[in-house]
Amino acid sequence: MIFAHDTEVALASAAALVNTGRAGTEELPGTGALDRFVAAWGWTGSRAHDQAELDAVRRLRPRLERLWQAGEDEAAELVNTLLREASALPQLVKHDGWDYHLHATPPDAPLADRMAVEAAMAFADVIRSGQLGRLRVCAATGCDHVHIDLSKNRSRRFCGVSCANRTNVAAYRSRRALGLPRGTGPGRPASTRAARPAG
Ligand SMILES: [Zn+2]
Ligand SMILES: [Zn+2]
Repeated sequence: MIFAHDTEVALASAAALVNTGRAGTEELPGTGALDRFVAAWGWTGSRAHDQAELDAVRRLRPRLERLWQAGEDEAAELVNTLLREASALPQLVKHDGWDYHLHATPPDAPLADRMAVEAAMAFADVIRSGQLGRLRVCAATGCDHVHIDLSKNRSRRFCGVSCANRTNVAAYRSRRALGLPRGTGPGRPASTRAARPAG
């Protein structure tokens, strides 16, 4: 694990929120879609279930998305602004079977504020540990999704399993079309195979 568990969940959740606006179609078209997103990512706390809440969450998206392009100083300023705007006050809490973790907004704060602050707290960890380079855009053709590479060797290239599989299948087909055996051809230099110990 690269970061604390709650930080990693918050980062994945922030990427998922950004991705709802990057698919070409709006993936949060109404309050019902927001309800499903909130349930899927285990958000607790008070909800308004109205258009204003949805609009506030949608307004947060491009601000978080910016972190995937920002350099360190700009990212730090973005995080500071999000924390300041929501008057974030970090507190250790236990709830719903979770052990102690940080909340920096009260449970009755607006959903978009809680999302903003949880993401900002997590990105603060990323920035202060010099790990901003782990923010990536999916390498699969035709996919725009962002993700955070939480692998030990910083090797994650795809937003998810389906993009990885699709890319691997395409690479296999192009190798076969070229008459190359498995494990050679585009995307896999011969040196990586030779580097493995024999037997
Ligand atoms: Zn919590
Ligand atoms: Zn992808």
